[in-house]
Amino acid sequence: MFVGVGASRVRELFTEAKKNAPCIIFIDEIDAIGGKRSGGNASGSNDEREQTLNALLVEMDGFSSDATVILVAATNRPDMLDPALLRPGRFDRQVTISLPDAKGRLKILEVHSKKIVLTPGMNLTEIAKSIPGFSGADIANLVNEAALTAARHGKQAVTLLDFEEAKDKIVMGLARKSVVISEKVRRVTAYHEAGHAIVATLLPETDPVHKITIIPRGRALGLTQQLPLDDRYTYSQEYLLNRIKILMGGRVAEEQIFGRLTTGASNDILGATEIATRLICEWGMNPTIGPVAHMQDQGGFLGGGSSAKPYSEQTAQAIDREIKKIIEDCYEAAKHLLAEHNKFLHKLAEALLINETIDADEMDIVYHCYLNQREIEETLKSKREGTEHT
Ligand code: ZN
Repeated sequence: MFVGVGASRVRELFTEAKKNAPCIIFIDEIDAIGGKRSGGNASGSNDEREQTLNALLVEMDGFSSDATVILVAATNRPDMLDPALLRPGRFDRQVTISLPDAKGRLKILEVHSKKIVLTPGMNLTEIAKSIPGFSGADIANLVNEAALTAARHGKQAVTLLDFEEAKDKIVMGLARKSVVISEKVRRVTAYHEAGHAIVATLLPETDPVHKITIIPRGRALGLTQQLPLDDRYTYSQEYLLNRIKILMGGRVAEEQIFGRLTTGASNDILGATEIATRLICEWGMNPTIGPVAHMQDQGGFLGGGSSAKPYSEQTAQAIDREIKKIIEDCYEAAKHLLAEHNKFLHKLAEALLINETIDADEMDIVYHCYLNQREIEETLKSKREGTEHT
């Protein structure tokens, strides 16, 4: 409704609203006109914007207590708003809309799915569960992609498979099936992804493995996707450390099987470093550094950027040491785990080389075959040792 801004437009809008009272005025992206004023030199390109903001403030103050005009505005950057806007009597209530949980995602899916033809009996709950972190706009995009996918396959109705393909395309990038990959690289990728998946499967407090693939997508040669059972709002220290171990699992597997390192783990290393840093600096989970926030301005909640406590060069060095230690410890833990379950690693990598993509059920099958075989070997071994001693 706020098409084209300007001081006179603001005045017009409020006059119109009062005429039509009771009335709700909604301003989207309020930061575009309500951003912090520069202070001091008001001259220049921001002049018009400041006049618009001033007009808005004046109008807001002009509301009498019996006015039935309600002003609602939306922004992704509440931190950027001019403080004058947030004073009592102006925008004095803030409602944070976070990303939808599984229930919310289902409702949004239902709304958007009305526009397309679904196969009868389609389980939208399953889809809603499998897309944690999707916003309303992401879900709209997903439904659109799924419909396009179905059309590409010449189908009359959209199936679960179309949703799955659309989701992979959005999350992981388009599959590059035409890319020619040498057998050597395929093998390294299979072991790398198997390494991630095995560490994730064997450790407690981790998200279940949803899919492993060695089909190149986007810039990645392969991918291991984990999905949480529920929407998580907080993370335990164990979960976070295990997350780093899972990330290290890829490179550890490569090192154990091929005895050399490749650049394929660069994203994993980046991810692990980020978690370790936040563990120490943001979540105060490191005993040496203590429960003190040492954040550099990284954006933070809604891009807000928490006020960081400046810290000394000594603290910076201590933090660096602790980050390195955490990652090295996790690397060692992943190494032990994969060495102990070496046969699982081979089995899963072989299965990946043959099938290219392994889903959660297939992962379960490989795991149980491995456990069975291990049990047979151990039983035989203890029987033989038993006979030797007698
Ligand atoms: Zn990896």
